[in-house]
Formats: sequence, C-alpha cells, structure tokens
Amino acid sequence: MSRTTSYTVDPARIEGVVGEPLFAAVAEEAALQGIPAFAIGGYVRDRLIGRPCKDIDFVVEGDGIAFAEAVAMRLNAGPVHVFKNFGTAMFTLRQAQGDMQVEFVGARKESYSRDSRKPEVEPGTIRDDQERRDFTINALAISLNPGSAGALVDPFGGILDLDRGLLRTPLDPDITFSDDPLRMLRAVRFATQLGFVIDPPTFEAMARNAKRLEIISAERIHTELNKIIATPKPSVGFKLLLDSMLLHVFFPEMVDLQGSEEVNGIGHKDNFYHTLQVLDNVCAKSEDLWLRWGAILHDIAKPKTKRFEPTHGWTFHGHEDKGARMVPGIFRRLKLPLDEQMKFVQKLVALHLRPISLTKEEVTDSAVRRLLFDAGDDIDALMILCRADITSKNDRKKERYLRNYDLLMEKLKDVEAKDHVRNFQPPITGQDIMRAFGIPPCKLIGDIKTVIKDAILDGVIHNDRTEAWQLMLKTGRELGQEPVVVEDHGHAQGQ
Ligand code: ATP
Ligand code: MG
Repeated sequence: MSRTTSYTVDPARIEGVVGEPLFAAVAEEAALQGIPAFAIGGYVRDRLIGRPCKDIDFVVEGDGIAFAEAVAMRLNAGPVHVFKNFGTAMFTLRQAQGDMQVEFVGARKESYSRDSRKPEVEPGTIRDDQERRDFTINALAISLNPGSAGALVDPFGGILDLDRGLLRTPLDPDITFSDDPLRMLRAVRFATQLGFVIDPPTFEAMARNAKRLEIISAERIHTELNKIIATPKPSVGFKLLLDSMLLHVFFPEMVDLQGSEEVNGIGHKDNFYHTLQVLDNVCAKSEDLWLRWGAILHDIAKPKTKRFEPTHGWTFHGHEDKGARMVPGIFRRLKLPLDEQMKFVQKLVALHLRPISLTKEEVTDSAVRRLLFDAGDDIDALMILCRADITSKNDRKKERYLRNYDLLMEKLKDVEAKDHVRNFQPPITGQDIMRAFGIPPCKLIGDIKTVIKDAILDGVIHNDRTEAWQLMLKTGRELGQEPVVVEDHGHAQGQ
C-alpha cells in the first residue's frame, strides 16, 4: 500500500511558537517555577503538517494543575477546570483565530497489568510520558524551556515518520498495544484520516493482539470507528480492520459479508467490498454520519438470507427487512444511539430496494406516493444511498441505471408537488372517528384510518378532509357501525 497523503511536513511551522502569547506564557512560567514544560501530541503533529487543531496539550515535569492555574492567570483566561483523578486541568483560551482548548498534565509513567485498562500511574519525565504515547508522530513535543524553547523533542524519529507517512509505535508494538488495545483502532483511524501507512511490524502486532480489543468499552470503540467513517474514504480503514482482524472482535456481521461462493460455475459478488464501495460513494455525496451507517448496513443481512436457486442463481430475498431488524442489535452492542438516528438507519436499510423497483417504465403514481409516504423527509438520503449502490463495472449499465434514477427523481418531485404526501398527515383523526360513530378507542378506529390512508396513497380519493370524511362514513357502515354524526363540524383535536 502506498501513502496517499499530500501533507507537507515543515519544521519551520513551529519556529515562531514562543512568540505566541500562549507559548510565551508557558515558557515564562516554566522558567519562573524551574519546571520543564512541553507542548505535546496531536497539536504538534497537526501544526507540523499544517492541519487545523483546536486543542492543545502541555506536559510539565511537576504539578500540572498548579501550572495550569498560573498560566491561565498570566493570560487572563479561565475558569480552569480541574480533574483531580487524572491530574489534569484545562481552560479555554479565547482568541481572534478561534477558541483553543488548553490542557495541562504532569508527566506520567504508566505500568499496566494484563487484565486491566487501569494503569498504575506515577510521576515521570518527559521521556517517560512520550514512551506511553501511541505513535511516534503523536509523541512529538516542543520544548518551552530556557535554552531550548521552540525546539522539537523527538526521541523516536516522529518527524521522519510524519514526513514519510508512517505509523509506528514508540516502543515494541506488542507492549504499546497490550497496554491499551484501543491504540490498534487508533492506528487504523490515523491511517485513514491522514492517508498514512502502518509500519509492517506494527501492523503484525495488531493482528497478534487483535483479540485484546475485547477489554475495551463499546464507547471508546465507536468513537474511533465513527472517526474512520467520517473520513472521505472510509474503505481504507475498513480494509485494514478486516486484514488486522480487529473488525472480527466488534463487528462480526460485517466480516460475514466477505467472500464469494460458487455453485455450478455461478458466483456472486463479494458483499464486503461492494459495501465499502457503496460507502465511499455515499461519502462523496454526503457528510451525514448516519447515512454513512446506512451504507455500511444496507446489505448486512445478505449472508443470512443467501440461497442458491437452480433457476435464479444466487438470491438474497428479504435481506432488506431482515437487515433492518438486525440494526438495533448492532447499535446496542456498539452503544450507538438507539433513538432517531437508529430509526433513520433502519429506514434506509428497509427501503433501499424500493426505488429500483420504481425505475420501470410503467410505474404508477400510487407506487411513487407510497415510497414518498414511507420515506418521508428521508427520501433524499435514500436516493443518495440507492445511487451509491450502483457499483457495476460496466459503464454503460451504470449510466443507464443512473438515468433511470434521474427519471424517478423527476417523478418523485412531480408527485410530491401535486399530492404533498412526503409529510402526510391523515386528514381524519382517531378523535374524528370516535366522535362520528360515538365509540370509545378500539381496533375499528385504526382499521378506518388505514382504509383512508390507503385510498389517498392509491389516488382513490384526494388528500382532502371532505372526501376523507365521506369515506370514513362509508367504511364505518361497511364494518357494521352506524354514524351518530354525519355532518363534519371541523377538525377534532388529537389523534
Ligand atoms: P484527534 O484530536 O484528531 O482525535 P489526537 O492525536 O490529538 O487526535 P487525542 O485523543 O486528542 O488524539 O489525544 C492527544 C494525544 O494524546 C495524542 O496525540 C497521543 O499523544 C495521546 N493519546 C491519546 N490517546 C492515546 C492512547 N489511547 N494511547 C496513547 N496515547 C494516546
Ligand atoms: Mg487532539
């Protein structure tokens, strides 16, 4: 694999730091207290490659909390938030160029026991602190000390790795990953975000330690996973997750998509790589994280619904419904939100085959209305997913499918302009029905509402209260209920 980044690493980008108020304040405080202080980690990395960064970490060889309070005082910044358990303190620095989150911590030395994520922590030197970082490019520090202020402190060759686009652990990767297995996922995340290559010995250690990811909480896992999904080309990350077998630990359903079977010389596409292509296609059109999740999960039930039918070849009947039913289990396990976002993903999965069935010439307005009704405001997201789902290698076929979708989108627009079913609200409420027939809440009310909804979606009546009222009376009578009020005296409240 080759590096895809176009960042240029320029050490000159940190030359003037001590002239900037924040760094000057830290340097002055370090000199005054005689405590070595350094800027470290992501900020230094991002500044060297010219990537914007809104948070900055400082490490001091001493009490980070007292130091933070002194620096905040110098800058007239605050309040300082103290996290005693972690020995950290932070404040927001308001600046014309945008606010900055500034955090201070005392340099630490950590030792881990094998079955726990909770390390023994004791005060250490800057070198100890750099050793416990995940990658050489994240262990870079800038000295803010008398005699060396503004100099890079780079004991592991981080600047060289940054320049050649390489992710490498500062220590033996088996130790770094065993101490905190989340770092393996971070390797994949940085490789995807920055377009970097994971150094082969580091990658081999990931494969060896993949199972250790089991001790990591679902929240920490999904935070990194969502960062991978938020990049312009998440397929890069998912391939690495599969190859390192990290994916097997937290997302086995996705691993199951991989592979192709052959019967009587007939194969089917590899649904893992197809899914990744759909995902990248969606990412080219939308930043919406949950639409991206829809792409990841749209075919998730294909392995469970796969059949070989001698007359049809491979089929995946019902994978859209089964897939939608699998979404809550996956979201629950990964501790992703179970509310609106999950329902949106479920809807995309459930409906992802509907538009294709509507690209035939003779499609009725009724079928178009039903899709608009079922998709509601998510119709545009659904169409992005469906267009992304065309991964044929045959360009002429692809063109034709896309043109069919263009026609469907026109039709959707026309029907919506005419019938307004996208945000359909039933013109007759349950209250209306109860009042008209003098009945308490019961099943009949739902039945009548369904008849009215279907009649509107099928174009039998207009989306109009008077027509719906008449249909309500007629339906009630057919179901053996005589109305007590036949004239409509206007809207009732509630449903
Ligand atoms: P971003 O802010 O873009 O997510 P980052 O590298 O700044 O990336 P943070 O989570 O902000 O990541 O962490 C700041 C720094 O702390 C990192 O650059 C790294 O040096 C260190 N770090 C964070 N998490 C870990 C970890 N799990 N193991 C080791 N070092 C870590
Ligand atoms: Mg950061």
